[in-house]
Amino acid sequence: MPGRILIADSVTTNRIALKVMLYSASYDVVQATDTAQALEIARNCAPDLAIVDCDLPGEGGLALCQRLKAQPQTADIAVLVMCGQASPDARLAALAAGAEEMLEKGMDRQVFMARIRSLLRLGGQEREWRLRSDTAAELGFHDPAASFVHKPRVLIASAAAALAGEWSARIGGAIGASVQMVAPADLLDHLSHSAPPPDVVVLDIEGAQGLNLLAELRSRSETRHAGIITLHAPAEPAAMAAALDLGASEAVPAGLGGHEMAARVARQITRKARADRLRDTLHDSLKLAVTDPLTGLYNRRYALPHLARVARRAEETGKPFSVMVLDLDRFKAVNDLHGHSAGDAVLKEIARRLKDNLRAEDLVARIGGEEFLVVMPDTALPEAHAAAERLRRVTEARPVRLPGQDGDIHVTLSVGLSVSRPNRMPSGPAREMFERADRALMGAKVGGRNQVTIARSAA
Ligand code: GH3
Ligand code: MG
Ligand code: MG
Repeated sequence: MPGRILIADSVTTNRIALKVMLYSASYDVVQATDTAQALEIARNCAPDLAIVDCDLPGEGGLALCQRLKAQPQTADIAVLVMCGQASPDARLAALAAGAEEMLEKGMDRQVFMARIRSLLRLGGQEREWRLRSDTAAELGFHDPAASFVHKPRVLIASAAAALAGEWSARIGGAIGASVQMVAPADLLDHLSHSAPPPDVVVLDIEGAQGLNLLAELRSRSETRHAGIITLHAPAEPAAMAAALDLGASEAVPAGLGGHEMAARVARQITRKARADRLRDTLHDSLKLAVTDPLTGLYNRRYALPHLARVARRAEETGKPFSVMVLDLDRFKAVNDLHGHSAGDAVLKEIARRLKDNLRAEDLVARIGGEEFLVVMPDTALPEAHAAAERLRRVTEARPVRLPGQDGDIHVTLSVGLSVSRPNRMPSGPAREMFERADRALMGAKVGGRNQVTIARSAA
């Protein structure tokens, strides 16, 4: 879906020229000839981008931009302001009005189309994050404020030390960001050795070197989500277009003044903070969906598909894997004697012991009240048996001490263990492994508890 674009321009020939260009790239186009009409269409047709003439009849292009950005319903529409001559002051005014960019009419077509693609892509990304975080919000997760907990970090890579110094002073002063400058040749080295990573990078590097560095930054995890502003000589429209397509957040003419650079950097900082926050919220909500709130272990919802994946992989590699089902012995009595919250504290402590006594690649999940599942990839009977015995021992060895309460609580657990049989994988090995471990657990209970029982057919 290429996107819907609103053209707001009173001059018919301008609209037609733009429309032809946009149609050829398969965009869906709607049109307006003054600010009132543009507002109306923006509300009703939900365009992704508005291309606005700065002299639009009515209140003018910048006022339209301000109005669009002020209403929640239209605030997400990216705005590209077109003018006869984009002087530094005019551009600054457009940025201040909330426009994403101001470009000159009749500019290089390749750059123009690349800018449109980049604006639509960024907008789409934001909408996607917002949508997912809305789902998270519906699930009861709250949106923290849209600012960094840290001081924003800006990195300027430029060979023009004097200009970079001016930017740095402005950015530091106006935004309160911490700014570092680095020579282009040292950029990657600097990023590899300096933690923490920057939120915004200014790449004032000409030609292929600049593009290569941009591609490198976008591929690295530390800078994948950073705002990146690239600068280009006027004679380099192709590089500017390429930079936008490679993922530059903004590509601007070289020699930008400190004021405008600070405004652009400030905007990128806001965007980055918002995107980080949305990602974090999403991450937290996904995590909550698959973890057990009491013990912090994975829950059943996560564990069973995980077990199926491990089983599939074992089938592919031909290596064995093992499954344990563990159940605390006579746990009802713990609750009855010490109360439910003491029971909860015991569950937490035992969960911690289980986790501490398994390898990182093993999964331990709480799949029922006082029942746990352990999945051990690439594990044959001797190691699996040793691990099960270890878990049994560390539970029995030390009673659980409850803060603020007299008396320790002594608990034990029973374990049912099953190990996959090489070359004998009927359909549904995951389910079979689970059921065999569960049956073995029954055996351990019947056999007197506080013991490990190995599923018969695997022994
Ligand atoms: P067995 O040795 O046969 O497993 O005996 P048991 O008492 O552990 O078994 P049963 O299944 O009869 O009881 C399990 C008890 O675990 C019931 C319930 O009181 C307790 N339980 C389950 N979930 C929780 C929980 O989240 N918190 C607490 N405190 N207790 C729980
Ligand atoms: Mg029990
Ligand atoms: Mg039980």
